[in-house]
Amino acid sequence: MNSIFDTIIIGGGPAGFTAALYAARAGLNTVVLEKLSIGGQMALTSQIDNYPGFPNGVDGFQLGMDMRDGAEKAGAEIRFSEVLSLDLTAEPKKVETDSGTLLGKTVILATGASPRLLGLPREQELTGRGISYCAHCDGMFYRGKTVAIVGGGNSAVAEALHLSRICEKVILIHRRDTLRATKTYHEAIANAENIEILWNSRVTALHGTEKLTAISVEDLVSGKTRDIDAAGLFVSIGRQPATELVKNQLELDAAGYILAGESTQTNIPGVFAAGDVRTKQLRQIVTAVADGAQAAAGAEAYLRNGR
Ligand code: NAP
Repeated sequence: MNSIFDTIIIGGGPAGFTAALYAARAGLNTVVLEKLSIGGQMALTSQIDNYPGFPNGVDGFQLGMDMRDGAEKAGAEIRFSEVLSLDLTAEPKKVETDSGTLLGKTVILATGASPRLLGLPREQELTGRGISYCAHCDGMFYRGKTVAIVGGGNSAVAEALHLSRICEKVILIHRRDTLRATKTYHEAIANAENIEILWNSRVTALHGTEKLTAISVEDLVSGKTRDIDAAGLFVSIGRQPATELVKNQLELDAAGYILAGESTQTNIPGVFAAGDVRTKQLRQIVTAVADGAQAAAGAEAYLRNGR
């Protein structure tokens, strides 16, 4: 017979570990399931400068480990296992993992979101060696250099403007002839003297042995391809929420994020969504940890009400 957890938290990033910390401290029998590595997206950032309380910045991996340790010390169990399927309407809720079935009175989804990749050969190998998915995290490594950025949405344009203040030159590569970004950004980008826009263009190849040195760019109108020297390539073509497991059970928004307000309560009672996987305006560590605390409070209230 499986024991029944008060709450099963899926995802070991800032939202998941904060939910675990708060849930365990509230006396809930809590387990966190993490597939691969502690810390989520945060752990991929070597220097985090916008998390309060760290005037000299903090290493993302270390912060993830510390959050894990805090949750564990409070009494939460941390397990490395991959969730294969979920039955969120069952009572108790059923979580099938690669190491067996778990039952939970509540479930907190904190599976996060990851940047969409270009899908080019060598993209993963060169990530961190010229390829980046976060200009605000890595821009400073390219001070005084020429970089390219792919995308035409609000993120790409905001990141291009950020990079233009650090780098010598920024080449914005967009696959269409108009930006998706809101109008307010159009003037700012047109006025930035060191931003060049390549319209109707796509990156087709990445060059460099140890690190990125150049990219091939195809002009989709003329069909011609040319190589452009660039020390960095920032990819800003949207993010992919990790909602595959719940897409047939929970209400999602058009972009695939779990629909839940500030309470983090989803459309299924006793199921909460915390962090980057939830619909929200600002996806940051601070907003993820806030969600984690709120989700744990929601789970506690749900259990208190006799479910
Ligand atoms: P987004 O709005 O979905 O834009 C993604 C961009 O990437 C689009 O220009 C798209 O091209 C392009 N793209 C997608 N797949 C591509 C591919 N395989 N190859 C090349 N280009 C590709 O995503 P986002 O900019 O990350 O923004 C996400 C959300 O956050 C949006 O709702 C956005 O408004 C919001 N946000 C708001 C602010 C702000 O208000 N200040 C700042 C940042 C983000 P197409 O245009 O051709 O589809």
